[in-house]
Amino acid sequence: MNAPLKQHLIDPEICIRCGTCEETCPIDAVTHNDDNYVVDAEICNYCMDCIAPCPTGSIDNWRIVTTAYSLDEQFEWDELPDQEELANDDESAASLEALEDEIDALLAKAHEGTGGKAVVPASASKPTVNLFRREHAAIATVQGNFRLTKDNVENDVRHIILDFGDTVFPVLEGQSIAITPPGTDGDGKAHDSRLYSIASPRDGERPNTNNIALTVKREPGGLCSNYLCDLKKGDRVEVTGPFGSTFLMPNDPMANIIMICTGTGSAPFRGFTERRRRAMPEAPGSMLLFFGARQPDELPYFGPLSKVPKELLTQHLVYSRLPGQPKEYVQDRIRNCPDEVSGLLKDERTHIYICGLKGMETGVDEALADICRADGLDWADLKPTLRTTGRYHVETY
Ligand code: NAP
Repeated sequence: MNAPLKQHLIDPEICIRCGTCEETCPIDAVTHNDDNYVVDAEICNYCMDCIAPCPTGSIDNWRIVTTAYSLDEQFEWDELPDQEELANDDESAASLEALEDEIDALLAKAHEGTGGKAVVPASASKPTVNLFRREHAAIATVQGNFRLTKDNVENDVRHIILDFGDTVFPVLEGQSIAITPPGTDGDGKAHDSRLYSIASPRDGERPNTNNIALTVKREPGGLCSNYLCDLKKGDRVEVTGPFGSTFLMPNDPMANIIMICTGTGSAPFRGFTERRRRAMPEAPGSMLLFFGARQPDELPYFGPLSKVPKELLTQHLVYSRLPGQPKEYVQDRIRNCPDEVSGLLKDERTHIYICGLKGMETGVDEALADICRADGLDWADLKPTLRTTGRYHVETY
């Protein structure tokens, strides 16, 4: 018998084929074909860099094997194989236990935030994940599909409400779902699913309704975004998930929440704001929003945001393409609010959430570093502390 190996595998039933794991792996151990994303056991060094960024958790699967599954075997799978029976002698048992301990320690490190990974906020509710998979998808019915941007602008961003009827589909603010567009590709294979943040609070668009809302921008040539943006009331949609176990809001009413977003990255923050408004409108913790769009007509939820009480949410709506005005990005506005932001950064109950365009990450990071520097704080120290205490969350694409 070969020495047992704890093999890192990706669950093909849950994976939405977004490619994040392959992009993240620093040593090219993750690869894919038309069917599956897989891990090469000969290359994987258990660095765990791919674990936290995976939006579905499909990456976090392990089997103890005596001969590693080859790439070709993994490419063929529709589901993960069961754990194989292993020899039951003392020596094998001891080495298996050592393997388990070693991998568990590495995983704990990956999930704890060492090395910059995300950690769940201490007071967040416990999320349900992976309840519905491709082979057993939930079917939701379209309850509404409304354009959020004005007709005079090219950007078509929509608020789409999906009703789950009698199906229990528990979600928390900040989680995502995946949508599988109908039909097949040129090879007759089902289309891959696409991930969208949930834009409503956990108890639905109106309290105690069994529905969720998505914020979807029509992308030119985009298969899933066009499918979703064209949906009519009554259409039925295949949904998998829910996904996401760290980008969650604190339940603590004392928690301050800084939300920084661009465009449709505002989706989870609509959920956060509605949750606080419904569950704890008198919460002492503050909510501060920096939201960037090209102009008001293209800012999703511009109208509804104007009705959110100022005591609940301080809003900085920032525009990059206002005629006759200089371009302003969220990071520019953050830099222009040093007292407001640094006061919150000094408070141990402050949580920061960033969602939207990948490109904003660096700019926001630099703005926060500048604010800290000007007020005697060290962002290089503070940021890892925020991460490891579950108070710093980034979801950018
Ligand atoms: P967008 O309309 O392209 O951009 C929104 C604003 O961000 C514009 O004013 C844009 O300015 C500005 N911007 C561009 N580069 C920036 C940078 N480096 N730093 C700061 N601001 C910058 O946004 P979008 O198309 O809605 O994209 C939102 C992103 O959120 C997408 O990547 C999407 O995948 C992601 N997201 C979506 C969801 C969802 O559920 N739909 C959830 C999470 C994340 P200019 O164009 O004038 O340069």
